[in-house]
Amino acid sequence: MKTIRDFNFKNKKALVRVDFNVPQDENLKVTDNTRIVSVKPTVEKILADGGSVILMTHLGRPKGQVNEKYSLRNILPDVSAVLGREVKFVEESVGEKAEQAAAALQPGEILLLENLRFHKEEEEGDVGFAEKLSKLGDAYVNDAFGTAHRAHASTAVIAQFFPSTKFFGLLMEKELIAIDKVLNSGEKPVTAILGGSKVSTKITIIENILPAVDNLIIGGGMAFTFIKALGGKIGKSIVEEDKKGLAIEILEKAKQHKVEVYLPTDVVIADDFSNEAEKKVVDIMEIPENWQGLDAGPRSREIFNDVILDSRTILWNGPVGVFEMPNFAAGTIALGDSIAEATKLGAFSLVGGGDSVAFVKQFGFTDKVSYVSTGGGAMLESLEGLELPGVAAINN
Ligand code: AMP
Repeated sequence: MKTIRDFNFKNKKALVRVDFNVPQDENLKVTDNTRIVSVKPTVEKILADGGSVILMTHLGRPKGQVNEKYSLRNILPDVSAVLGREVKFVEESVGEKAEQAAAALQPGEILLLENLRFHKEEEEGDVGFAEKLSKLGDAYVNDAFGTAHRAHASTAVIAQFFPSTKFFGLLMEKELIAIDKVLNSGEKPVTAILGGSKVSTKITIIENILPAVDNLIIGGGMAFTFIKALGGKIGKSIVEEDKKGLAIEILEKAKQHKVEVYLPTDVVIADDFSNEAEKKVVDIMEIPENWQGLDAGPRSREIFNDVILDSRTILWNGPVGVFEMPNFAAGTIALGDSIAEATKLGAFSLVGGGDSVAFVKQFGFTDKVSYVSTGGGAMLESLEGLELPGVAAINN
């Protein structure tokens, strides 16, 4: 893996693709600066070498139009505060102004370009646009894991203009190492925990990870498709009827790969999809009519806990209950506690893709697991076994 560690940036201008697509409130105030914080080590390494940094990113979906709402000027104070330095801004990403600002940049300085997606050529992966961007710097660094699954001008196409000076940033490196630990090089036993609402959105991941894992915990809404396929009564629980055959196939494939599959054995059921609903715990095979399973039961939590504490490498994707409702969050919190405990005992734990990341942040588990991925779609596609265009562009 060719990273910025392999290069001395002294007197070089590094064109760094970052993912500053941060959430903002209605006053455009940044509500979560994780994505900015994550690239700080990359920026610092380049500046410490005596280089300068030109940051380029998209923000939101301006669809090829200039739109003040999506201007990076709005997040400039946050970028500057996080990086702890003055950050210059230019109201263009290509063209004369951008070229002048880049040319004037001195070693130790940082420049932020305006939103790349003000040009439709960015998302189109236009070679001409990528070439114009490439003129701004001497080296290309990709540290935008959150956008690495897109073959856009600044994330992939641009790399061809830097045949010997293209590198992964340190965030990219961390993400790729974390994925590799789970899929290839992790210490055994390896346990994957998949939850969330639907089997259909996770099927490719399951198929791809089966050869790599020893244990597979299936929880959340997607478990009911398996339970029904196995002959259980699931009441009004969420189910994908047309995926029951697939569920059985997965269980058979798991057996072939000698993967132990753990489904919930008991479940917290509710008489309505509501936090105020009446609730009780029953055997997962015996959910009464008109009731629905919304959380893992206490026995299931214990079984999951035992498996997790025995694991040396853990992947977690998707909640095991409707954690958005406080009365049905206990199972997912218990799972988070188990993973935190295993991590404390020396296991490597990766939380990646979608709602489990939101959960981990909301419930304060971020520092209790080994790594929380910064890229939803990019992480999911990696777990599906796809090579990300942003990664391929640096590697090839
Ligand atoms: P996903 O985006 O597929 O990871 O699904 C995450 C969503 O699954 C969360 O919003 C959870 O509320 C939901 N979920 C988890 N368990 C259940 C369940 N038993 N019934 C319905 N939805 C669930």
